[in-house]
Amino acid sequence: MPINELKLAKELIRKPSITPKDAGAINILVKNLKSIGFKCQLINFKNVKNLYAKLGKSSPNFCFAGHTDVVPPGDISSWSVNPFKPTVKNNKLIGRGANDMKSSIACFVAAVSRFKVKNRKFKGSISLLITGDEEGVAINGTKKVVEYLKKEREKINFCIVGEPTNPNKLGEMIKIGRRGSITGKLTIVGTQGHVAYPQRANNPANTMVKILKKIKEIKLDTGTKNFQASNLEITKINIDNHADNVIPQSANAVFNIRFNNKHTSNTLKRKLNTIFKSTSRKAKCKFKIDYQVSGEAFLTKPNKTTYMVQDIIKKITKIKPKLSTTGGTSDARFIRKIAPCVEFGLVGKTMHKVNESAPVSDLKRLTKIYQNILENYFI
Ligand SMILES: [Zn+2]
Repeated sequence: MPINELKLAKELIRKPSITPKDAGAINILVKNLKSIGFKCQLINFKNVKNLYAKLGKSSPNFCFAGHTDVVPPGDISSWSVNPFKPTVKNNKLIGRGANDMKSSIACFVAAVSRFKVKNRKFKGSISLLITGDEEGVAINGTKKVVEYLKKEREKINFCIVGEPTNPNKLGEMIKIGRRGSITGKLTIVGTQGHVAYPQRANNPANTMVKILKKIKEIKLDTGTKNFQASNLEITKINIDNHADNVIPQSANAVFNIRFNNKHTSNTLKRKLNTIFKSTSRKAKCKFKIDYQVSGEAFLTKPNKTTYMVQDIIKKITKIKPKLSTTGGTSDARFIRKIAPCVEFGLVGKTMHKVNESAPVSDLKRLTKIYQNILENYFI
């Protein structure tokens, strides 16, 4: 019997799997996947549950990837329904995870179950790589599972990540890469003193202002065929000073750069460090910088499977999806290390919001898209 995507999506939403809690979400998947013949392997790291499930043994291996964890609901009283009691209102499924991304996981499973009814024997295998840690620090999720699969020499030939990629309508956008992201926490240390005697002090605020102006004015690039221009944004400027008549000892700032594949985190660090060094030396200040890299920029060069996926989406939605690299990071940044990887899921308008929702008709069409992709891939 084919599995119904709406019923399964509701079952998953009922489990409050706020990162890193699983709350039974992965078990629901295991139960459903086993019923259609998948072999399920739980790959747990620390407190995070992950699942690698596979139907068939032979090559090629087509993989669907996603996460069962969700972000917290926020103030429950501002929701029109209980976020963990999925409800259909005006043909929309409402609940936490309704579009990011429990529903697309339900569509994966429903699509495979229908594909299997029609194609009892197909050459190849279908796998699901599901993590319980995507929305959080993402250390014990897909990153570790990918390392494990690599060690086990498990081959994935193509992967679709079901993140909500469409801005407004189903069919608008496939993601074929993502920009990189680096955050810098900068501290400038000067000399504290009386505000009326600046010659006896060294105000780090002046140096910080100079540095921030310089780094904001760096011309990173003007974009590429596949990527928008890289951009630096200053997100925090803090001086912890409780007096108006004191020149502070130190100043802090935080910035983030979203960068395309003309840069790596290391080339950017070098560029920035040169500015920090020379400007603070001139000002006789000291500086400290801490970087956090959440992902490098990457691009999966479109291949014939990418174009096949694009054609099928167009056939079903009547929209030709753009091949894009916009938006934040996703687990595709880990999977692309072992397999060509594209992302396509629901419309992301309400993700992480109060009253997160997805039209029931989109769930139906997404299942049809995934099913058609499988049929074209294996036949
Ligand atoms: Zn997501």
